[in-house]
Amino acid sequence: MWTLDELYKLKDSKNLAITNSTDKLTFKELWDKSDILANYIIKNTKEKSTVMIYGDKEIEFLISMIASLKAGRSYSPMNISFPIHRVKKIIQVLQSDLVINLSEEEITGEFKELKLIELKDIIKAENSTPIDSTSWVGEEDTAYIIFTSGSTGEPKGVPITKKNIETFTHWFKEYCILESGNYSVLDQAPYSFDLSVIALYVYLPLGAKLVAIDKATSSNLLQLFKEVKEADLNIWISTPSMIELCCYDNSFNSDLLPNLKKLIFIGEVLTKKLSKELKKRFKDIDIINGYGPTEATCGISACYIDDEMINAKDSLPIGKPGEGIEFFIEKGSKFIDKDRELGELVCVGDSVSKGYYKNSYLSDKVFFKAENGKMAYRTGDIVYKINDTYYFKQRKDFQVKLNGFRIELDDITNNLNKIEYIDNSITLPAYEDGKITHLVSYVTLNDKTDLKGLKLTIDIKKKLKEKIQSYMVPKKIIVKESFPLNTNGKIDRNRLLEELN
Ligand code: AMP
Repeated sequence: MWTLDELYKLKDSKNLAITNSTDKLTFKELWDKSDILANYIIKNTKEKSTVMIYGDKEIEFLISMIASLKAGRSYSPMNISFPIHRVKKIIQVLQSDLVINLSEEEITGEFKELKLIELKDIIKAENSTPIDSTSWVGEEDTAYIIFTSGSTGEPKGVPITKKNIETFTHWFKEYCILESGNYSVLDQAPYSFDLSVIALYVYLPLGAKLVAIDKATSSNLLQLFKEVKEADLNIWISTPSMIELCCYDNSFNSDLLPNLKKLIFIGEVLTKKLSKELKKRFKDIDIINGYGPTEATCGISACYIDDEMINAKDSLPIGKPGEGIEFFIEKGSKFIDKDRELGELVCVGDSVSKGYYKNSYLSDKVFFKAENGKMAYRTGDIVYKINDTYYFKQRKDFQVKLNGFRIELDDITNNLNKIEYIDNSITLPAYEDGKITHLVSYVTLNDKTDLKGLKLTIDIKKKLKEKIQSYMVPKKIIVKESFPLNTNGKIDRNRLLEELN
């Protein structure tokens, strides 16, 4: 099932493909407008180049992604939470010659910037020249490049091919299908987050209506509930954190969404407490716990959560590996096969990326070719298995999930250390009930500032916001005279963690 083939079959359909707070688009309009834009992209970009798309949940974002695929170009989706400084760096890395800028920010540079107003003007044309399918992104071509937080302080690009996507969708579709064949699907995850792949590449080709929820609405429960109620959702896709936020309001239940049939989660730990709560609020609902990294397209294992799992001693499982994917547990330099023994999860299969974009140094650390010739990826996740069902235990490094967002703590630290008056720093997670609630950065200062207290914190946060995504900016900044050191002479992370939690 490939999105473009399926969208072709729907090209005369007047059914809605996507709605957002202000706009809507039918499948026919999506097909025609993406043809027009694809012609423009072919004319204005080099073959096999990457189109950068910067925006939120505009319907033009969807048109731009489909148009890039039709033009045989990959796209790199960038949410407005990425600061312009970071976006510009990424454009440089990608050497994009076209940036589709749907935001109100300026992004100037040595590339063509296509603003929303100009884009609207282009795609309002009545006639479109169809793009022959031979021009579309091919099996082994990169379809998109998602950038994820990197421990060096620079984000790393994960190129995903059409084949990677097809491997994922072919398997994951089994969790997504409804007998009725009618789909009103939540499209809330930013397009720069791999979770959005389910809406775009599994549901859209099934003829679903995507209910796009922008950044502002995502944090305004009243508006969010209004929009999802009007859309009469059947499928909910989000991180557990997102739905947990909705559960703060008692009206979030089957009275609000009477036709909701499935809750699909991927991206972070799903707790028993939350699953129980959701089962209470939505009777006869399917809860799917998916697991997977951006580096392997989206999901690589999944399972339905049942009462037996909720009542068991272990945490909720992340399921069995999907079709086309194999799991191995690595301990030291050996693969282990004993139940309950902990080790790092290595996944092998056709949904695994070929490696980070133009970064062989980082790629060589975690990607390799397995004996069967397929790509393998060391996930950094410590897991165990019981009867071939896998359980997530913890990370082996300093990557965390905060409100569902993937963050390398050293990405923050490295950017803090670039501030002229910061001598050294470390960023740590603060926990409540075993869940990360916020981030705290400890800093030591040199003599290049007289700022103190609140003024200092505001200045640091402002400087950080220019470099990293807003959700990565730590909530608290604590100034230290000096750091406790461990026996290796490094900052004693564990001691500070104990102090904090
Ligand atoms: P991302 O690339 O943003 O999808 O993040 C991938 C990482 O999120 C994985 O390597 C895990 O650490 C974590 N993750 C994803 N799904 C789950 C899950 N169901 N349970 C626990 N951790 C998860």
